[in-house]
Amino acid sequence: MNLHEYQAKELLAGLGVPTQRGIAVESVEDAVAAAKKLNEDTGTEWWVIKAQVHAGGRGKGGGVKLAKSLDDVKSISDQILGMQLVTPQTSAEGKKVHCVLVAEDMFYPGESEPQEFYLSFLLDRANHQHMVMYSPKGGMNIEEVAEESPEDIYTESINPATGMLPFQARKIAYNLGLSGAAFKDMTKFIGKLYNAYLKLDASMLEINPLLKTSDNKMVVVDSKLTVDNNALFRHKDIAEMRDTREEDPTEVEASKHNLNFIKLDGNVGCMVNGAGLAMATMDIIKLAGGSPANFLDVGGTANAKTVEAGFRIILQDPQVKAIMVNIFGGIVRCDRVAQGVVDAYQNIGEIKVPIIVRLQGTNAEEAKEIIDKSGLKVHSAILLKEAAEKVQSVLEQG
Ligand code: GDP
Ligand code: MN
Repeated sequence: MNLHEYQAKELLAGLGVPTQRGIAVESVEDAVAAAKKLNEDTGTEWWVIKAQVHAGGRGKGGGVKLAKSLDDVKSISDQILGMQLVTPQTSAEGKKVHCVLVAEDMFYPGESEPQEFYLSFLLDRANHQHMVMYSPKGGMNIEEVAEESPEDIYTESINPATGMLPFQARKIAYNLGLSGAAFKDMTKFIGKLYNAYLKLDASMLEINPLLKTSDNKMVVVDSKLTVDNNALFRHKDIAEMRDTREEDPTEVEASKHNLNFIKLDGNVGCMVNGAGLAMATMDIIKLAGGSPANFLDVGGTANAKTVEAGFRIILQDPQVKAIMVNIFGGIVRCDRVAQGVVDAYQNIGEIKVPIIVRLQGTNAEEAKEIIDKSGLKVHSAILLKEAAEKVQSVLEQG
């Protein structure tokens, strides 16, 4: 699950990580009130207004702007709220901004120049380790740094059994070119951040920029956090932070029905029980000359309701030219699923695309009979090969 910058900062601050202060708002009025409040609390007279969308590169798209007066706060938040923000990481149409973060400006002048670093923790599955990735070239797009000067990106593996060792934090601070008070503060900061990464069950925690202020303090200025979905059961507070406005609407709809759905860009919709069978079905569709429009695992307890929900979701995709239903009846009885298909067909109304249903296992014969007798434009098959041939023939006709 992905979080907004302001949510990630709230969580980090709560775990003792030094973080830029800010207030998230959804109206211009509240933005001005937030700026005043930040001024009272921190004395800041400049603010940064930041679009809250699940995409990076907001600065480049005009979604991060500095306000040097309350009038600026008003005009900038008015401009950003409601805009379609296009960044190098969004589609061409961009993302609608519902919320902005009003934050205190941290780039104030002082004894030294503020400096932006990149630092992220991630799970290195291949090596069974945690990994810190960091660079003295922060602020800008890390993908660009990777391309132009890969030598500026460093990594450090952390063995989860020992945790981060003190020398590792010192090595990172050294490679970032720090010394004196800043060096010390960085080692402390990294330790706190590593703890937060573990406590939050994050699969990725990225700080870019990690700012060294002009008075040599490390602070989180932008943060991107992905929490492992499998750990959400023990983070009810985080689960509640989910902003479905930022997600693919069909995937949101699918998750409401406990369907495992992933949108792909092919022309054959698939509805299958079991992830393994779903993968095999996608292969068979490819072999038959089609290309899967989605991955959909309806789970082990496919019934008339989930089948109908599955159809509705698949049919939202205009690219779908045929639907293949592939259900193996173990605990699930095929005749019930077949009845579900027939009911769904009638409930949804006119379904224009052909449906190929392959039901195998418990009561497969009865299921085929139900479908064949229904008089609907549904092709039934018992063997997978047979089903694939039918997919091929309907694609050729259509
Ligand atoms: P991103 O473009 O989506 O990664 O958004 P960031 O939060 O990283 O902001 C982009 C850039 O805006 C940063 O690298 C900074 O250069 C600048 N920026 C962010 N926060 C502040 C701030 O508090 N003050 C000033 N002056 N600039 C900021
Ligand atoms: Mn950033």
